[in-house]
Amino acid sequence: MKINENFQKLPAGYLFSEISRRVAEFRTNHPEVKLIHMGIGDVTLPLPNAVIEAMSKAVLDMADAQTFHGYGPEQGYASLRDLIAENDYKARGVDITPDEIFISDGAKSDCANLGDLFDVDNIVAVCDPVYPVYVDSNVMAGRGGELDETGKWSNILYLNCSADNGFVPAIPESKADLIYLCFPNNPTGVVASRDQLKAWVDYALSNQAVILFDSAYEAFITDESIPHSIYEIEGAKECAIEIRSFSKTAGFTGMRCGYTVVPKALKRGGASLRDMWNRRQSTKFNGASYIIQCGAAAVYSDSGKREVRENIDYYMNNAKIIASALKAAGISFFGGENAPYIWFKAPNEADSWALFDRLLNEANVITTPGAGFGPCGEGYIRLTAFGNATETAEAVKRIVSLIQ
Ligand code: PLP
Repeated sequence: MKINENFQKLPAGYLFSEISRRVAEFRTNHPEVKLIHMGIGDVTLPLPNAVIEAMSKAVLDMADAQTFHGYGPEQGYASLRDLIAENDYKARGVDITPDEIFISDGAKSDCANLGDLFDVDNIVAVCDPVYPVYVDSNVMAGRGGELDETGKWSNILYLNCSADNGFVPAIPESKADLIYLCFPNNPTGVVASRDQLKAWVDYALSNQAVILFDSAYEAFITDESIPHSIYEIEGAKECAIEIRSFSKTAGFTGMRCGYTVVPKALKRGGASLRDMWNRRQSTKFNGASYIIQCGAAAVYSDSGKREVRENIDYYMNNAKIIASALKAAGISFFGGENAPYIWFKAPNEADSWALFDRLLNEANVITTPGAGFGPCGEGYIRLTAFGNATETAEAVKRIVSLIQ
C-alpha cells in the first residue's frame, strides 16, 4: 500500500506548537513569572446566558423519549438554518435560502473539507500572510507542489500583502482557480472594502474561479460601509462559497459550530457545487450535535443577540486599548477597528521570532510572530483582543516600553 505522501511534505512544526514550546521552556526556567496571553486567538468570556439556558434545556430533551434527538439532518436543523438565512443574510438585504446553508462543527473543518470539491490540478491562491489551514489542507490534497527555502509552495499562488497595499492583495495577473479570502482578516485585522471585494468577484467570474470567503470575524465589523458577506457584492452567488463560525462571534470555540453557504447559482464544469457539497456532507459528516445547534439558535434570540453584542464590545474595547497605546507611542499597526486582531511592526526589528522572544522574556507577554503566517508576515507581531481588559492594558504598556 501507499500512504498519502503529501503529508510527508508538510513541515513538522505548526506555528502554535512552536509558540507553546518556547512558552513552556520559559515557564520551566521562570516558574515565578506570570505571563500575559496576547497570542492564540481563543475567546475568554463565558458563553451568553441565553446559550447556556438553551443548551441546558436541550440536555433535558435528551433525557425523555418524547423529546430525545438521535441523528439529525447532515445539513443541520432547518430551524437553525432558517434563523441564519433571516438574521445573517435577509437582514442585510441578501437573499440566501436555508437549503444553501450547511451547519458544521466549525469553520476550520469547512475551510479544509471544501477542497474535496475541486480537482488536484487547480491553482490555489492565498494571501501572504495567511491562516495556515488554507495552505496545509491543500498541500495534503496534493495541490501544494514543493516547499522552497522561503517557506512557499511551488504550485500555490501567493498574493503578497504588505503595508504598501494595506494588507489587501492586488488582483493577480495570472489565473487562479480557487481563491481563499478572509475578511476581516486573521492575522492582520484588516477589512476589504466593497470595491475591493467587487474586483475579486469580477476576477473570479471572468476566470471561472471560485472564491472561498472566510468571514469568521464578520461580527466584529463596526464600519457601516464594509460588507459582512461576499454576497453583498453583485455576482458573488455565481462564484463564491462563504464560511462562517459561531466561535468568535458567540464564544463557541469549545462548542464547535459554524456554517457554510453554497449558493445554488454556483456551478462549475456543469455541476452544482451546492449539490456536490450536500453529497459530500451527507457521506462524510453526520451533522453537528443537537445540543450545540440549540445553543447556536439561541444566539439569534433577543437576549442572545444582546449578550453576544456585549461580549464583542468588550473585546473591541480591548482592541481600542491596544490601538490607542500603539498610536500614542508612534508604532504603526493595522487592524483593531473591525477585527479583534492588531498587527504591528516594531521599529528597528526585522525578525518577528526574535521580537516574539524578547516580548516573552523581557515583557512577559505571549504574542504571535507574523512570520508564522507566511514570509510577508516577517517583521510583524499579531496581538489579540480576546483577553481580559486589565491584563490587555498592562501587556500593551509593557510592549510599548520595550520596543519604543
Ligand atoms: N477561519 C479563521 C480565519 C480563523 O481565524 C479561525 C479560528 O481561529 C477559524 C476559521 C476556525 O474557526 P472554528 O473555530 O469555527 O473552526
